[in-house]
Amino acid sequence: MSKIAIVVHGGAGEDSEFIRQNQTAYKEGLQAALHCGHEVLKNGGSAIDAVERAVQCFEDNPLFNAGRGSSLNSLGEIEMDASIMNGENLSAGAVCMVKNIKNPISLARKVLEETNHVLIGGHAAMQLAADLHLPLETDSYFMTDHQQEVFMEVNARESRQEMLRKKIHGTVGAVAADLYGNVAAATSTGGTENSLPGRIGDSCIIGCGCYANNDTCAVSATGDGEFIITGVVAHSLSVKVANNSASLQEACNEVIKAKTASVGGNIGLISVTKHGGVGMSFNSERMHRAWIDGDGATGCEIY
Ligand code: ASP
Repeated sequence: MSKIAIVVHGGAGEDSEFIRQNQTAYKEGLQAALHCGHEVLKNGGSAIDAVERAVQCFEDNPLFNAGRGSSLNSLGEIEMDASIMNGENLSAGAVCMVKNIKNPISLARKVLEETNHVLIGGHAAMQLAADLHLPLETDSYFMTDHQQEVFMEVNARESRQEMLRKKIHGTVGAVAADLYGNVAAATSTGGTENSLPGRIGDSCIIGCGCYANNDTCAVSATGDGEFIITGVVAHSLSVKVANNSASLQEACNEVIKAKTASVGGNIGLISVTKHGGVGMSFNSERMHRAWIDGDGATGCEIY
């Protein structure tokens, strides 16, 4: 039997007054998602079940930018992306630009298990959710007062440069290792605030915002999606682990350092190996994160 481990994140980026004021609630949300996933692992469940469960927990929590509480695009609408990957067989499922799906991560899981495809977008993905009887919610369920305030604030700024510079988004993710030596990763997001309608971020792109391979590690990334895509961040960590005898934590630090130098942006990542080793690194002011490693060491931090 292998050691179980799980790491979750609730987004990396700039700090804000809202985050500072709600630190306790954020930490409670991180711990809740962590323990949702850990419970699955403790009961002999699979890594992929654990990451789906942890991410569902975040998606149901309005404080985090995924599912309920997603950020609003420039039209004041919500479009969500999510992906999930199984390190045992490199199978993956993802959805982009979906609306009204209560748990986009579960739709991504359905794409993995019930279709021959990896990524399904927009109306077709929403139709798939309806056909599979996944829970749907009205627009108002997803919109929180906080995200509407952010939308108003961002739109009130005079300069577009200022709008692009100040990024206060979130995203959630989980990586886990189970008793059977398998790892999995899951990522879900409402995207970046005030983005153009139709913008698709890294969170649903396998190898960028999500990647899992038993031979290396499972990874979930967060931060500026455009940089995470061009930096192919999640797969880069897997390659680094494959080629490097350094610890997973050192590999995470090296990837963040290299991507900061090459593509730039705010980037954070969390990872786990099938031996229960964990790593996490970020170059931004904060990354909401919590973990329980293979030896039972646990923590929960924002800064
Ligand atoms: N990476 C996400 C996206 O670009 C946002 C985030 O992680 O904060 O959609």
